[in-house]
Amino acid sequence: MNDTAAKIRELTDLLNRYGYEYYTLDAPSVPDAEYDRLFHELEALEAAHPALKLPDSPTLRVGGAPLSAFAQVRHEVPMLSLSNAFSPQDESGAFDHAEMTAFDERVRGGLGGKPPQYVIEPKFDGLAVSLLYRDGVLVQAATRGDGSSGEDVTQNIRTVSDIPLRLRGGDTPALIEIRGEVLMFKADFAALNLRQEENGRKPFANPRNAAAGSLRQLDPRITAQRKLHFFPYSIARQEGGFSAGTHMQELDYCGRLGFALPEGNCGCFGSMAEILAFYEQMRQKRPALPYEIDGMVVKVNSLAQQHELGFISRAPRWAVAHKFPAEEALTVVEAIDVQI
Ligand code: NAD
Repeated sequence: MNDTAAKIRELTDLLNRYGYEYYTLDAPSVPDAEYDRLFHELEALEAAHPALKLPDSPTLRVGGAPLSAFAQVRHEVPMLSLSNAFSPQDESGAFDHAEMTAFDERVRGGLGGKPPQYVIEPKFDGLAVSLLYRDGVLVQAATRGDGSSGEDVTQNIRTVSDIPLRLRGGDTPALIEIRGEVLMFKADFAALNLRQEENGRKPFANPRNAAAGSLRQLDPRITAQRKLHFFPYSIARQEGGFSAGTHMQELDYCGRLGFALPEGNCGCFGSMAEILAFYEQMRQKRPALPYEIDGMVVKVNSLAQQHELGFISRAPRWAVAHKFPAEEALTVVEAIDVQI
C-alpha cells in the first residue's frame, strides 16, 4: 500500500509539473503520448485505490492556471476537458477498441438502454477558446484556463481572420457563446518555424504550441502576423436565435452564422461499428489534412440525451476523445521560449 501511495504521489507531482509547462508556459518537456501514458497509469491506480487519490490530482482538474499577465474571464459555463479512449494495436496490426465499446455501453446504460445516435468529428490539436457575441457582435474571447477562469484574449482573437467580428445570417441571437479550437495549419507552422530559425529563435515544438504561444501574446500585432484559424465545436449558451435539438444542428447553425466548418470530416451514425469505420478512414486521411488532429471526438448527438447523461468532474459523460496512436512518441520535444 505504501508503495502504491508513493507511486500515486510521484505521478501526481510529475503530471502537475508537465501540465504547468504545457498549459501555462506553452513549453512541454515531454511528448503528449508520454503524458497520456502516465495519466492513464495514474487513473488506473486511483480507480483501484480510491482512498489514495490526492486532492491535487490532475485527474480532478482541467488545464492550468491562467497567466496573470492577462485579465481573467470567469466562465459562466465551465470549460471542461474530455475523457480519453485509446485503441492499442496488437502485433498483427489489429486495433483493440475495448475502451470505445465500454464508452458505448456506459452511454446506453445511462440512457436506459436506448440506442443513441453519435457524431464523430476531428479532435483539433490546438487550444480551446470561448467567443461571446452580444447582438451579433464579438464582445469577448477567453482561453479555457483552469476551466473556471481563462485569459481575456479578445484583442488577439479579433486578428483571427476566420472568426466573424459580426455574425452573419438572419436569425442572430441576442447572446451566444460559441466554443471551439484555435489552431495553426501545418503549412503556416512550417513557415513560422523557418522564420524563427532565420531570426535565431527557437522553433516551436508543434502546431499546437505555436498556436497557443501565438494567441497568448501581449501584443496583438504579433498574433496578427501568425495565421491562426478557428473551428467551432459547441454552443455553451444562447438567448434567442435558432434553437438546435442536436449537436449537428448546432454546428450547422455556427456555419450559418459565418464560421468555417471541417467539411467532410464529420459523420453522424447510429452504431459504434460505423463510428469506428469512420475513425479508421480519418486515421488514413490524417496526414493529408491541412491541420493537425490527434484523434476523433465521439459525441451523443441529441442535446436532450447529453443533458440526461451529464458530467463527471472534468469531462462530459456524453463525449469521448478517441485518440490516434501516437506518431510523435519517440520524437524529442524541444522546449520553447514563452513569448509573451
Ligand atoms: P484533451 O486535449 O485531451 O481534450 C479536451 C480538449 O479537446 C478540449 O478542451 C478542446 O480544446 C479540444 N477539442 C478539440 N477538438 C474538439 C472537438 N471536436 N470537440 C470538443 N473538444 C475538442 O484534454 P486537455 O485536458 O486539453 O489536455 C490533455 C492532453 O493534453 C493530454 O492528453 C496530452 O496529450 C496533452 N498534454 C500534454 C502535456 C505534455 O507535457 N506533453 C501536458 C499536459 C497535457
